[in-house]
Amino acid sequence: MFPEKEKGFLVFKRELPPDEPVQERIKHFKEFHHSLPDTKAREQAYRCMNCGIPFCHYGCPLGNRIPDFNNAVKDKDWKTALKILHSTNNFPEFTGRVCPAPCEASCVLSINDEPVAIEQIEYEIAERGWKNGWIKPEPPEVRTNKKIAIIGSGPAGLAAAQQLNRAGHNVEVFERSDEPGGLLMYGIPGFKLDKNVVWRRINQLIDEGINFNCSAEVGKNIPIEKMLEYDAVLITIGSTVARTFKDMNVPGSNLKGIVTAMDFLTQSTQRLLGKYISSEEIIAKDKNVVVIGGGDTGSDCIGTSIRQGCKSIINLELLPKPPAQRTGDNLWPQWPMILRTSTSHQEGGERIFSVLTKEFLSDNYGNVSAIKIIEIEWFTDENGTRKFRERPGTEKILPCELVILAMGFIAPEADAFVENLGIELVSTRFGKAIKTNEKYMTSKNGVFSAGDARRGQSLVVWAISEGRESARCIDEWLMGKSYLPSKNLFGYHSEKEKTY
Ligand SMILES: Cc1cc2nc3c(=O)[nH]c(=O)nc-3n(C[C@H](O)[C@H](O)[C@H](O)COP(=O)(O)OP(=O)(O)OC[C@H]3O[C@@H](n4cnc5c(N)ncnc54)[C@H](O)[C@@H]3O)c2cc1C
Ligand code: SF4
Repeated sequence: MFPEKEKGFLVFKRELPPDEPVQERIKHFKEFHHSLPDTKAREQAYRCMNCGIPFCHYGCPLGNRIPDFNNAVKDKDWKTALKILHSTNNFPEFTGRVCPAPCEASCVLSINDEPVAIEQIEYEIAERGWKNGWIKPEPPEVRTNKKIAIIGSGPAGLAAAQQLNRAGHNVEVFERSDEPGGLLMYGIPGFKLDKNVVWRRINQLIDEGINFNCSAEVGKNIPIEKMLEYDAVLITIGSTVARTFKDMNVPGSNLKGIVTAMDFLTQSTQRLLGKYISSEEIIAKDKNVVVIGGGDTGSDCIGTSIRQGCKSIINLELLPKPPAQRTGDNLWPQWPMILRTSTSHQEGGERIFSVLTKEFLSDNYGNVSAIKIIEIEWFTDENGTRKFRERPGTEKILPCELVILAMGFIAPEADAFVENLGIELVSTRFGKAIKTNEKYMTSKNGVFSAGDARRGQSLVVWAISEGRESARCIDEWLMGKSYLPSKNLFGYHSEKEKTY
């Protein structure tokens, strides 16, 4: 059927499975993205040109061996494809669902055609792995007597835990939330990433021998001093301090009905999971909703508000509307800085770019009733700095009963670690992050950090990548030498070629 691998792109066009239609999917919170049949998935893998220099490796922060797994899929060898994928990525079922796929932006085929559907192929491989029972617990054959504490169980903590456990160490994870998974559990909504998909993987980690302690906040109900009992500590607490208007002196920013995206999204998932919600209910039903912030988080708030039955929804963004196509200074294989329309944007709402929030108005009972905005124009000053100025006479008042702030995250909640462990923070383009050396070690010997806590708000794929890299550094520091794989331009290659 597929005689010459390198010719597939001339025969087949890029094809993804159709998502459930908007009018149907907004009635529920379940995943609406589906799988391709075997033959179709193989056709898509056959489009890979098997480039001599695969630029998709440059794009993927994990260094996934994309042409290799495409080749195996094309040859219907799904099991080998899974082994190749797992050799660089602990959790391909997560990235196959939520990764923005920088690999596809740097696929050579995308220079003058549509890129290979790499993320979809990754999803197909991972799901076949689970369906066929090929993904099983892989506990280590030999245990070292080293004990490692991991603080925070997002994708960075989980990836590091699995790597370190497979290297034989005794790994204990501390998570302040009532469920492990970090933003995979409470953050990314279930319609993008089903929570059973997260539990399915966490159960594998538990069966491999990793010990999870939930509702265990280090620095609060778990004393920091307890961490000193471990041979090494990894801090993967994410970057969870949200940017708000409170420090920006915007009048009315304390009104009721102005909430952070994480409070809104966490409650929504808790409600769906049948959890008890102790804080005041935040729900978009029958409300005019304004979401401030045009990124991934804002988009998740739109999809969630629509599913909750909001009356109307408007998404505000300070930055100008990005171009539809790459511009001359943003060429392949760089990440394209273009307008993105997420599946949630397809579901409804209006997007307004280049606007500044001037004031929140009250209904006289302390609740937000409207937001005053003004158009802005962006310009570059004589020193080359990008700035904006207001356009007089363009103020508008938008009625709203719920305002959701999705303006990004500025720092990890690391005060207790700074005060009690003496670790240092560093300034980043977002705000602050935990300072480490190139081996992921903080300013305190034996204490490491990875993921959003270390690099600032980022992506799941980067968190997994940093979790894996930091695990190798910890293993090397503890044992003098590590057999865990390390990343290079051509992906991960361990000295023992093990499929960690
Ligand atoms: C709403 C939203 C949607 C997103 N969507 C996407 C997407 O579609 N694709 C994508 O690639 N990325 C997405 N991201 C970004 C991505 O989720 C993060 O980059 C990633 O989860 C970071 O992983 P992490 O392990 O570093 O931290 P986190 O996932 O933030 O996990 C940190 C964990 O540490 C715990 N913790 C914190 N302090 C303590 C303490 N003192 N003791 C114990 N535990 C503690 C927290 O409870 C949390 O569970 C999204 C982010 C948000 C907010
Ligand atoms: S993890 Fe993301 S960047 Fe890497 S191959 Fe998968 S979709 Fe592409």
